[in-house]
Amino acid sequence: MCGIIGVIGEPDASEALVDGLQRLEYRGYDSAGVATLANGHIQRCRAEGKIRNLVKKLAAEPVTGTVGIGHTRWATHGAPTENNAHPHATDKVAIVHNGIIDNYLELKAELESKQYRFESETDTEIVVHLVTDYLMQGMTPVEAAQASFKRLQGAYAILMIFAGEHDLMIGVRQGTPMTIGYGEGENAGRMYMASDAIALAAYTNRVCYLEDGDWAIIRQDGAEIFTMDGAPVERTVRKSTVTSAQTSKAGYRHFMLKEIHEQPEVIGNTLHAHLHPATGQAVFKDFDFDFASLKRLHITACGTAFFAGLVARYWFEELAGLPTEVDIASEYSHRSLPPSDDAATLVISQSGETFDTLEALRFAKSQGQKTLAVLNVQDSTIFREADHSVFTLAGPEQSVASSKAFTTQLATLACLAMVAARARGKLTEEREREIAAALREVPSRMAEILRLDDQIKEVAKDIQHATSVLYLGRGRSYPIATEGALKLKEVSYIHAEGYAAGEMKHGPIALIDETLPVVAIAPTD
Ligand code: GLU
Repeated sequence: MCGIIGVIGEPDASEALVDGLQRLEYRGYDSAGVATLANGHIQRCRAEGKIRNLVKKLAAEPVTGTVGIGHTRWATHGAPTENNAHPHATDKVAIVHNGIIDNYLELKAELESKQYRFESETDTEIVVHLVTDYLMQGMTPVEAAQASFKRLQGAYAILMIFAGEHDLMIGVRQGTPMTIGYGEGENAGRMYMASDAIALAAYTNRVCYLEDGDWAIIRQDGAEIFTMDGAPVERTVRKSTVTSAQTSKAGYRHFMLKEIHEQPEVIGNTLHAHLHPATGQAVFKDFDFDFASLKRLHITACGTAFFAGLVARYWFEELAGLPTEVDIASEYSHRSLPPSDDAATLVISQSGETFDTLEALRFAKSQGQKTLAVLNVQDSTIFREADHSVFTLAGPEQSVASSKAFTTQLATLACLAMVAARARGKLTEEREREIAAALREVPSRMAEILRLDDQIKEVAKDIQHATSVLYLGRGRSYPIATEGALKLKEVSYIHAEGYAAGEMKHGPIALIDETLPVVAIAPTD
C-alpha cells in the first residue's frame, strides 16, 4: 500500500497535499513527496522517512501553485531513498503511483534504447518517460496518458500533472483504489483525487470511487471518466461517511492505540446492527444467502483477517454443522478445487480492496462457487464483485496493524455463523438467545480489559528485550495466538510465533529456555 493525493484549484496546493498525505500516512511511510506547477513549471520536493521530514523540507524550500500531486511511499522497487521517492518527473510531466508495473523492465529497455535516462530504481519512473515520449511525438497530454495506460501491465493507481496545464490532472485505477472528490461550498471549484476518502475528509464528502480500468480527466469544473477504450462512463457521486474527526488521533499517541480503545464502542455498534434487539436473533439487512443447501464453506483472507477466518471455522462447524476450510488468499488459487455449486467462498477484508483477497474471490467465482464477503468499507471493489456482503461497523481503520477491524470481524462472523446455523436447523431459539446475550457482554468486558493498561505496560517492559516470543493456544484460542504473534512482529519487530499448544511437544519445545517469554491464551471456555 501507499497513499496518493492530487488537488486542483487549491490556493496553496502544497499545504492541502501535505494535509492529505498526513491522513494517508497509515498506508505507508518510508518516504514522501509533492509536485506542483509554479508558472507552468514542475516543482518538486521529496524527503526520506516520515511526512514530518517532508514538512521540514518544504518549510525551507516551498513549492507553490494551485495544482499538485503527493505521495507517501511504501517501496516495492528500489530502496526508500529520496531519489526513489515519488513524484517522479521530467520537465513535461510529474507522476505518483501506487502499485507495481509488472512489465517495467521490458518498457525500460525500450525507453533506454530511445536514449531516455533513468534516475531512480523504481518501476514507476518508466511511466514518466513513456508519457514524455508520447508528448514528444506530438500527442496531447490526454492522448499521451491514455496511450501509456494501454501499455502498462500490473496493479496501479496513478496521478499525473503536466507542465503548462494548470487546469488538468489525469488519474487511473487498475487494481489499486482511487477516489475522486468534488469540492463544494467554500471549496467549490476545487477538485481532488486520492487513494481513499479518508485523505479528502477535510475538504469534501462528495466522492466517487473509480472502478478497475477507469481513468479520469479532472479539471476545476469537474471530472470526466472513461474506460480504457476511451468510452465515457458515469460513476455515482455519493456522500462519504468518513468525517474529519474520525480520521484524527483524538489525543492518542498513534492511530493503533486510538483504535484499540475504540473497540468496545465499535463492537457495540456492530452487534447492535446485527442482533435483533428483542429476539436476540442474528439478522443482516438485505441478505438472503442460502446456507441451508450448502455442503462446504471456504473462507479465504490475508493477514489478520485470515486469523479471524480461522476462528470462525470453529463457529461454522460447531453451530451450523457446516464443513469449513480456511485458506490464505494468495494461496487459494493454487489449489485444484473441483468446480462446485454447493460450496461457497467467504472472503474477509477490512478495506474491500485487498488485492490477493479480490483475486481469491474471482478464482472462487470462476469455479462456480457462490461468494460472500465480510467487509468494513462499503462501495469497495470486493463489495461490487461478491454475490452477498455483510459489514463490520469499525469506522475507518488507519493503523496499518489491524485491531478493531479484527474484533469487529469476529463479532460479525459470530452473527453470520448464527444465521447459518438457524438456516440449517441447527440452532434452538434458546441457544441463540444465550449466544446473543454472551456477545452483548463483549463490549463491557473489553472495556474492563482496556482498563488494565498499566499492568499491560509492565508486561511489555518484561518482554521488550526478548529476541523471540511464543504465543500458545488451543481450539479457538489457537488463531488468537497466531494473531497475537503477528501483531507483536508487526509493531515491535520482535520475532514471534503462534503455535497450537498441543504441538509444542512435537519439536518446538526444544527452543524454550528461561529467556523466552511464552504467552498462553487460556480462557475458561
Ligand atoms: N512500485 C512503486 C515504488 O516502489 C510504488 C510503491 C507504492 O505503492 O508505494 O516506488
